[in-house]
Amino acid sequence: MKQLWAPWRMEYILNEVDKHDGCIFCELPAEKDDPKNLILYRTAYCFVILNKYPYNNGHLMVVPYKHTGNLLDLSDDILLDIQQTIRKVIEVMNHILHPQAMNIGMNIGRTAGAGIADHIHYHIVPRWDGDTNFMPVIAGTKIVSESLRTTWKKMHDEFVRLYG
Ligand SMILES: [Zn+2]
Repeated sequence: MKQLWAPWRMEYILNEVDKHDGCIFCELPAEKDDPKNLILYRTAYCFVILNKYPYNNGHLMVVPYKHTGNLLDLSDDILLDIQQTIRKVIEVMNHILHPQAMNIGMNIGRTAGAGIADHIHYHIVPRWDGDTNFMPVIAGTKIVSESLRTTWKKMHDEFVRLYG
């Protein structure tokens, strides 16, 4: 269990580095600049965004547009849309990143490790054998940023190819 949940624990730590007022999960989709904001794909009720501080290459989040920290606030339509979007993410990841495994999960509440507790979101982390020593290179922001752009382009193109 410790290893399984390690990726989620990173979120809180790294968001402490990047303090921000307001809610990025509301602000970023509203900016309508998806390449800059690393938004990969949008549906009626949710969007897919690469994690700026990835645990692994391809670490992303599926986020409802609705601002809430409570899963019970989401309608059936939103819940179904999120699950169908997760299925699309898995397909795109398999094609582009060829992971050997994946972590898919959600932290609800700050005590559970949620960095952005007021706006719930699923994490999807592709995993490869031997990747447990991977840590984000906080000092090498430029390298991580270039790698994020490359991953965004590849995955975005596959979303377009498969789902329009
Ligand atoms: Zn929000």
